Amino acid sequence: MSQSLLTPIGKKVQLSDFDPRYTSGDWDKDSAAEKIETNTAITRDLAYRLFAENRRAVLLVLQGMDTSGKDGTIRTVLTGINPQSCQITSFKVPSQEELDHDFLWRIHQAVPRRGEIGIFNRSHYEDVLVVRVHKLVAEKEWQSRYDRINEFEQLLIEGGVTIVKCFLHINNEEQKQRLQARLVDPTKRWKFNSGDLSERKLWDEYQHAYEDVLTLCNTAHAPWHIIPADRKWYRNLVVSEILREQLEQLDPQFPPSEPGIENLVVE
Ligand code: AMP
Ligand code: MG
Repeated sequence: MSQSLLTPIGKKVQLSDFDPRYTSGDWDKDSAAEKIETNTAITRDLAYRLFAENRRAVLLVLQGMDTSGKDGTIRTVLTGINPQSCQITSFKVPSQEELDHDFLWRIHQAVPRRGEIGIFNRSHYEDVLVVRVHKLVAEKEWQSRYDRINEFEQLLIEGGVTIVKCFLHINNEEQKQRLQARLVDPTKRWKFNSGDLSERKLWDEYQHAYEDVLTLCNTAHAPWHIIPADRKWYRNLVVSEILREQLEQLDPQFPPSEPGIENLVVE
């Protein structure tokens, strides 16, 4: 299922070619919920093995427009994973200290260590998204970042980190409804900030910046998955499938125990 969400390396991505409302006819909300439960149970087991193996790591990068469901995806897909083997980092506006370093400095520190699953809620891609759209650095500087990002990801992979990049793709109209829902529902109002409205006005600029990310940083070693995200249940299903498949491919193994200990009796 996840394969169809990958685009050919080097091919210019046009987001209008991808339908955010898409769902596969094989699934509905109920069957997806069951499958997600199965996937998370398998993922939990594999995460335990990954932790025990202590050799490799997995990094799930979640990007998407405001309200695209980055938090909701994390909540659903990582349920039940041992918190000790899992580390979530949400990247916000950089601090002064972070700005005083290169843009990858804060990112590198948050990369999962051996045995861990790391989740990036936003990531180094903000440095060619919000930074580009708001002209926070000169064009020459952000233009060179696509190459720097590809090299950085290559470095991580050589260090044993599998990188899974998911773009949660929603419609403009869907965002409108979700922002409105945040205003109406007192339990969601805390998520809203007035800056969301000015960001929304820059929708086209962001889509364009995303198209460049999905084209220029769609590499063989770390491809982008474009996730139809208007239907939350389908988004969760697809991301849970991708994460499970990646862990299954890694097939982490328990380390060998000390020879002979299976016959020891503890007194
Ligand atoms: P939220 O995800 O709603 O908590 O918002 C986090 C905010 O931090 C978003 O508006 C991002 O655009 C912003 N942000 C994240 N990384 C950067 C960055 N490198 N430079 C500027 N703003 C950033
Ligand atoms: Mg926000």
